[in-house]
Amino acid sequence: MTSSEATDLRNTLPGARELDVSPEVGDEVKCTTCYMCACRCGIKVHLKNDKVRYIEGNRDHPVNRGVLCAKGSAGIMQHYSPARLRKPLLRVGERGAGEFKEIDWDEALGIAAGWLSNIRKSDPRKLAFFTGRDQSQALTGWWASQFGTPNYAAHGGFCSVNMAAGGIYTIGGSFWEFGQPDWERTRYFMMFGVAEDHDSNPIKTGLARVKENGAKFVSVNPIRTGYSAIADEWIGITPGSDGLFVLALAHELLKAGKVDVDYLIRYSNAPWLVIQAPGAANDGLFARNEGGDPLVWDRREGRAKSAQDPSAAPALKGEVTLPDGTRAVPAFELLAKRYLDETYSPDAVAQRCGISADRIRRLAAELAQAAFEEEVVIEQPWTDWTGRRHERMVGRPVSLHAMRGISAHSNGFHTCRAIHLLQVLLGSVDSPGGFRFKPPFPRPAPPAPKPAGKLADLAPETGLKGPPLGFPTAPEDLLVDDAGQPVRIDKAFSWDNPISAHGLMHTVITNAWKGDPYPIDTLFMYMANMAWNSAMNTAETIRILTDKDSESGDYKIPRIIYSDAYFSEMVPYADLVLPDTTYLERWDCISMLDRPISEPEGPADSIRQPVVAPDRDVRPFQDVVIDLGARIGLPGFVDEKGAPKYPGGYPDYIVNHERKPGVGSLMGWRGESGRESGTGAPNPKQLDSYIENGCFWQGHIPDEGTFFKHANQAYLDYATEMGFLERPAPIVFQLYSEVLQKFRLAAQGHGAVTPPENHRERVETFFDPLPFWYPTFEDEEAEGGDFPLHAVTQRPMAMYHSWGSQNAWLRQIHGSNRLYVARETAEKHGIADDDWAWVESRHARIKVQVRLMKGLNPDTVWTWNAIGKRRGTWNLNQDAEEAAKGFLLNHLIDDLLPAKENGYRYSCSDPVTGQAAWYDLRVRISKADPEEPSLSEPQFDPLPLPPGLDRGPSTLRYGAGFHSRTGDGIEDT
Ligand code: SF4
Repeated sequence: MTSSEATDLRNTLPGARELDVSPEVGDEVKCTTCYMCACRCGIKVHLKNDKVRYIEGNRDHPVNRGVLCAKGSAGIMQHYSPARLRKPLLRVGERGAGEFKEIDWDEALGIAAGWLSNIRKSDPRKLAFFTGRDQSQALTGWWASQFGTPNYAAHGGFCSVNMAAGGIYTIGGSFWEFGQPDWERTRYFMMFGVAEDHDSNPIKTGLARVKENGAKFVSVNPIRTGYSAIADEWIGITPGSDGLFVLALAHELLKAGKVDVDYLIRYSNAPWLVIQAPGAANDGLFARNEGGDPLVWDRREGRAKSAQDPSAAPALKGEVTLPDGTRAVPAFELLAKRYLDETYSPDAVAQRCGISADRIRRLAAELAQAAFEEEVVIEQPWTDWTGRRHERMVGRPVSLHAMRGISAHSNGFHTCRAIHLLQVLLGSVDSPGGFRFKPPFPRPAPPAPKPAGKLADLAPETGLKGPPLGFPTAPEDLLVDDAGQPVRIDKAFSWDNPISAHGLMHTVITNAWKGDPYPIDTLFMYMANMAWNSAMNTAETIRILTDKDSESGDYKIPRIIYSDAYFSEMVPYADLVLPDTTYLERWDCISMLDRPISEPEGPADSIRQPVVAPDRDVRPFQDVVIDLGARIGLPGFVDEKGAPKYPGGYPDYIVNHERKPGVGSLMGWRGESGRESGTGAPNPKQLDSYIENGCFWQGHIPDEGTFFKHANQAYLDYATEMGFLERPAPIVFQLYSEVLQKFRLAAQGHGAVTPPENHRERVETFFDPLPFWYPTFEDEEAEGGDFPLHAVTQRPMAMYHSWGSQNAWLRQIHGSNRLYVARETAEKHGIADDDWAWVESRHARIKVQVRLMKGLNPDTVWTWNAIGKRRGTWNLNQDAEEAAKGFLLNHLIDDLLPAKENGYRYSCSDPVTGQAAWYDLRVRISKADPEEPSLSEPQFDPLPLPPGLDRGPSTLRYGAGFHSRTGDGIEDT
């Protein structure tokens, strides 16, 4: 019986109303890529009468294999949000008052181009261009370098740069986009404090595999929610102590001799000889031969040999004297000495970590058991870079994963290095069952690009010599002037935070306001809610955005251009607003030049295509950037005659832009015939091929090259051919970092570029060539003081930053946030469930409503991130719970550390990478007076709706109209 026959039959039954049991869902299906969080799953959007009807996961897509989360399906409500901006806006009242007039695009772009052009003609540094969770950084970074400003970064500095830099400087790869557990084969998976979009669907499906396979899943997280709730073992660690716990595991493994010595010798720099010459300029550097190769000590022949010499039998222990009289020891000797020290014994760390010593010992034994007693064998011969053939691939099936939780601490870089050190000691990096690289990684640790923007290279109407972000390898790579002062407005790549590979977006507004290191003219930002949940010290940030010079009466940050799709809290603080489209209305590319969607078996990238046309006068930000580039004549955006190089906007750029000959935004269907992959000439039909293939492309590494990629000749050849590597040379894991030692030597006064006196102690301390643990800066301050509790946020599975908490469907899951407090802790303070409480830090205080819970480290309180909203914004009702009861912890976090003796205040960041240290926060709580109003604090003046937006409906319903077959998607009542 067909479905229409079934419907007819039902409708003949007595009392039946006309039922359509199998309604037509839509009349068209288009593939694209989700943007409801950062995971970039493939989706199929069902349309009816050109309206979005339904979103499902794309089963063929490598990221999600059809899985769609709550956020992904709620993309409909994001797309039809009443908070969408409708037309360009020009400020007409005071900044922050929210008074705008609508203008047309030509006028808006003319104003922006005028401002930008003037800056470029005088001093390109006066433009600070910062984007938020932008997925087009390959374009925006390129634009900044063509403009000639070093003041560019995206959100990485306040998200997870510690994870990126910690991994890239250690193993030449990192977690998430650049590596993942071998979900199929791992026997023991340990995860550290992961935000649930880092990454979301892939981790969920991966955990399902781990569970199905009977492997053990251990979650290390102060809070038992989300992934931790399904862990076989939950370790409620004290925030900021993960590195100590990991190094205690290393202590136990070293003590028991449970490390993979062959793996260390073959793939890491553990045997490389480190010069021992205290006080000398080469102390702690690697001993090298005349050709520059690092040396190892051949234990059979009793002499030094190049580490590249396959005949060497390197020693891991013992001090040696080289022919020139230099004393040296293998890096492993230093490593073992450090971690075997009692400082890292389980007994010494137990109290600080909140984990008993016996439990740490047992966990170390379990890791060793999984790695060495349950080894995984794949019957696949392969050849390593020395030409040695291996008949099979033997793996150590232990895998680790970490992201934001450990990243957002001022000790996060070294903690991340410690995690990778543990994986290397166990021999599990890119071995079957372990952590697996995803192309284009691994790359040399660190890879080649260095940050461009040396002072001498900056000039009017001149582009940068390279990308504004990169990986310094020595003090000479820093962007500082002769006095050692920062060149960039965010002080990235300066002595404040030398290896700030993603910039420090969280410092830009304060520095620009202070004119430290110099005043700027225009702050140009994209999808970064800096007047609210993307800023520390939010109230002060709001104040300084409107602060004026007392003499001139001008704003201290003279001009602000902002692009966003929605009426976020940042919009009223802009002078010019350029409204963006939703993700369903534009082209995008998830590029290998940025952060692709590769899998361990092969590289992959993808696109977004517009599945519906905008119904407002808005433009994709990427089109706007390209248009502005042409208007102001940026070299990469105009041809030799000065005409726009990409008149077709972003899709034109995606297809035709070449970063170097044959290397473009997308890797699939290249070459004029469209048959080439990786590199090749632009193919005018490339986007059609992507669309035909579900909007993604995937390549395949030869079977022989799928593991041990760092040393596997088949992979190294493949990666070179594809353009991921310059040459097919092995990547050696840098357990001991000579790069860090070079900065330390500079702090000791060696070399041509040394830090100013006031930075020396800090650089010397934190640029330790071996991973180490130190208390977070707030912990140090709070030691024995008045702020006994740690305070952190988590991102809920159902929401992504402030985007999700305005979404009519997702708001029904999390309408307001509470402060979660452990029951025993609440009892001590006389606080019961639903009570209101004051939370105070050294910086500020907020009022919140409390929810008690089990499964929480008793010294920790926490809340969901970015649910609190400012009244009037996002087109929510003025009394919406998000504004009345929701709150941000951001108000409590000072963006600057307490002043040093010389009065200098560093930003609240990791001292190596500049990663924003959101999770260092220490607080105390007390019960609020029950007579006080049940309202979160602080509250701010409500913001008026910008012109063009009607006040949102009190009830927002979607889809009711479809049942009338009129095809109307959205119905507001
Ligand atoms: S995990 Fe993220 S990208 Fe994937 S469906 Fe959910 S919201 Fe979309």
